Amino acid sequence: MSVIVLLGGPGAGKGTQAVGLAERLHVPHVASGDLFRAAVRDGTPIGLEAKAYMERGELVPDAITVRMLQARLGQPDAADGVVLDGFPRDRAQAKVLDEGLAEHGARVDRAISIEVPADELVRRLSGRWVCAEAGHVYHETAHPPRDAGRCDEDGSPLIQRADDKPDTIQARLALQLTSLSEVIEHYETAGVLTRVDGSSPIDDVTEAIHAAVRPGSLA
Ligand code: AMP
Repeated sequence: MSVIVLLGGPGAGKGTQAVGLAERLHVPHVASGDLFRAAVRDGTPIGLEAKAYMERGELVPDAITVRMLQARLGQPDAADGVVLDGFPRDRAQAKVLDEGLAEHGARVDRAISIEVPADELVRRLSGRWVCAEAGHVYHETAHPPRDAGRCDEDGSPLIQRADDKPDTIQARLALQLTSLSEVIEHYETAGVLTRVDGSSPIDDVTEAIHAAVRPGSLA
């Protein structure tokens, strides 16, 4: 079983890297933000509880988040491992994860922190647009769509996530970077942390992440 945690501020490129890493390791990519957005879209009890927190750019309370993650990690496809993206988000969640894995004789094998300066994160997030249909991601300057306002892949309209609106971004960053630093410290103390420079070209980031999870590099 290999459990990999990807860490980084919003806009650090975690999601993009997590998808590729999960494919490479043949384990599912579990993104807590995606699980919450699906729950909101489907109107499930968890979605109804989480919606207001998400729109304000705040963390959803741990009790709800942990319940959702436990259900996902209990699915058969996660039995051989998982790439976690967006969870844990604070020290309390990191401890719950350690305890849950220990019950199955497992642990976090590697935590990878994709590090990008805060002002660069603001720049990246404020230009981010996603397609309404499938969440394909664009950026006003770094990766614009061929037709303004339309997804290249499926033609659906591009929308800005409620939590990517400029005034929400600052609040979201301030809150999230503080708890993120606790999580980084947690894994540093556990001896499983690798730091990666997230402002270098995307292929270099990918390579550094792959190097960190090669057999022999894992804890
Ligand atoms: P993300 O797509 O990872 O940026 O997550 C979007 C939103 O979902 C966050 O701003 C939080 O409101 C919520 N969320 C995602 N993961 C967590 C988590 N581990 N703990 C609490 N809230 C979360």
